[in-house]
Amino acid sequence: MKESKGIPRRIDASQVRRITTTPKAHRKERADTALVCGESQGREDFCITSSPGDEKMTGLCSVPGGFLTRLREGDIVKVDPDGRISLVWDTGSRQNPLYLTDYCNSRCIMCPQTPEAHPCHHDETAKRMLRLLAVPEPPSFGITGGEPTLVLDGLVEVLDLLRERFPSSPVQLLTNGRRLADFQVATRVAESAPRGLVFCIPVFADNDVEHDAITGAKGSFRETVAGIHNLVRYGRPIEIRVVIVRQNAERLADLAHFIFWNFPFAVHIAFMAMETSGVACANLDEVWVEPSDYRGALEKAVVFLNQRMMRVSLYNLPLCLISEKVRPFARDSISDWKKMFLPECGECSQKASCGGFFGTSVRKPSQIKPFKGGDTIPEKQKKEGGTSIFL
Ligand code: SF4
Repeated sequence: MKESKGIPRRIDASQVRRITTTPKAHRKERADTALVCGESQGREDFCITSSPGDEKMTGLCSVPGGFLTRLREGDIVKVDPDGRISLVWDTGSRQNPLYLTDYCNSRCIMCPQTPEAHPCHHDETAKRMLRLLAVPEPPSFGITGGEPTLVLDGLVEVLDLLRERFPSSPVQLLTNGRRLADFQVATRVAESAPRGLVFCIPVFADNDVEHDAITGAKGSFRETVAGIHNLVRYGRPIEIRVVIVRQNAERLADLAHFIFWNFPFAVHIAFMAMETSGVACANLDEVWVEPSDYRGALEKAVVFLNQRMMRVSLYNLPLCLISEKVRPFARDSISDWKKMFLPECGECSQKASCGGFFGTSVRKPSQIKPFKGGDTIPEKQKKEGGTSIFL
């Protein structure tokens, strides 16, 4: 749970503030911090408290204690005038997305979100958050949406801020790449991007008919391919992402060939199981495919790419449902806070190495088969451990 609600006191506009539990620190940076406290401290201080508060306070009162106790020094919260409070930077998490918008120009049939039909921007929150962030080590960032390139000016400002404040941080920008088919747009984004930024771009099929059917956007295959090639003209690193659905499961080997021959420069190819929430949930019968049904096709695709020295990873595919040959490519879940296991996983000797399932999915794969005590941990996973990745 990263959201909660309290009773607002004297909050006229949304506030993005850094959490502190120390009154002295709060008084030093009153405009930027929110003090988590037992009792309200009066008008001057912006407080977040589980107590009922009073008319004289500023901030949020009657916030559920469970939410309050998870807030740590340095976290960043957004507090809205209606009393909603969202944890937008969690210092305890490896994965804090920078959401720029809920709006998207594609309508992917397995989208785990429900994109907004109209433009809706969150880039101001992201920018404020980047200005407030005070962390001892440069963190990693994931820029996502919706489609972040639809908020082009905001995206460029976020990239500029990242370059200035966190020049050595790894950054992933998840985009469908379509707007980057416009060379001027690609130029603006590529030139603003910090050195450690990787463009993570989904390609769902080796042909326009199937890719466009999955994205629900005619012409998207052509635009995405052009966008990727524009970025490469600037020497920008590209990760290709493949979400496996019924529509592309049989042709994964063909897609691997397409990726190798058309994007040999890709720094990483990520195959991932779908998260059946949002739009995917509404289209479940159309998109659902059991991992056991594409075990062979996935193996061919992974082996083909690996033999050609391409870096391949598998996400959210349970180890017991993929072939032995590709288990070394399995990584941790793409979202640590969504990862869960089924009761039968309790007796599995490989649970610690397994990416598990999306807790947010309405359907989980069947045919789970726990490993017994003597089974070994895949070598590559042992070597590299889980790779942090944003969705
Ligand atoms: S039984 Fe559960 S923990 Fe073990 S490999 Fe399968 S999904 Fe993972």
